[in-house]
Amino acid sequence: MNRYAFFQGNIIPMQDAKLSITTHAFLYGTACFEGIRAYWNDDDQQMYLFRMKEHYQRILNSCKILKIKPRYTVEELCQITLDVVAKSQDRQDIYIRPIFYKSSEFVGVKLDGLDDDFLLFSVPFGAYLDLAKGLKVRVSSWRHVEDNMIPMRAKINGAYVNAALAKSEAQVDGYDEAIFLDSSGHVSEGSAENIFLVRNGKLITPPVTGDILEGITRNTIIDLAREELGIATVEREIDRTELYVVDEAFFVGTGAQVSPISEIDRRMIGTGHMGPICSEIQKLYFDVVKNKVKKYSHWCTPVR
Ligand code: PMP
Repeated sequence: MNRYAFFQGNIIPMQDAKLSITTHAFLYGTACFEGIRAYWNDDDQQMYLFRMKEHYQRILNSCKILKIKPRYTVEELCQITLDVVAKSQDRQDIYIRPIFYKSSEFVGVKLDGLDDDFLLFSVPFGAYLDLAKGLKVRVSSWRHVEDNMIPMRAKINGAYVNAALAKSEAQVDGYDEAIFLDSSGHVSEGSAENIFLVRNGKLITPPVTGDILEGITRNTIIDLAREELGIATVEREIDRTELYVVDEAFFVGTGAQVSPISEIDRRMIGTGHMGPICSEIQKLYFDVVKNKVKKYSHWCTPVR
């Protein structure tokens, strides 16, 4: 199947979308991106993009922080995305990667006085993390970048070197994922996921001032837990050792979806299996993203 990209203002075959080796974004990581999932619903014979608008609202915020002049509005970005996805004709779950980037071919570290451009491509994409068995996770020895270093509020390409260091350290040491602590030593997030804990029937997650990406899935889970399960989420600082004594823990994110954690720093979480609250939330989440819960249809944009 042919795959297409939006590149330099046109939809072209993905293999023809090539950047110069002196592109500023390649030299210095000066770009910001999104990851959007589109889910194939076999019953409806339809592809649904999940919370596309919110992803583009966030990328425009990232552009502000990174001094990128976005040449498209949220509505235009949504239309470009629908056009590219429709052209690729997938009948499977895919992951869409839009990027605003410093496109000047220029050697020299700065943000101002450079050209900016936008590109987008999609790839077939299954589960990013295991959804059933429970992940074995470690607290990373790498400190998370903080707001005055590289802000995680913006989804900046260069910041993901920090994530790659943590994720690889964890994997090489026999874990599945890493948890970052923030500059104050409190729990921040996973390498590419937000984290939720369950204690005494309540959800707890770090606040948006905890050097986290303000996750769209995080917001989705807070809303679904409150509206559908009657479970409140407390957004507050979390100590490292609190991780060891919780009833349940799970990661959420566009890639991670809802992925249970069974072990942190070689200490079993709960029963060592997916807990009941995570299980309910995961089931609800998969129904919602595939547009099977009409109350949340406004989060799902059909492609055709
Ligand atoms: N934190 C980080 C660092 C991430 O890369 C991601 C993935 N985008 C998330 C959290 C989850 O964010 P979202 O739910 O918006 O995908």
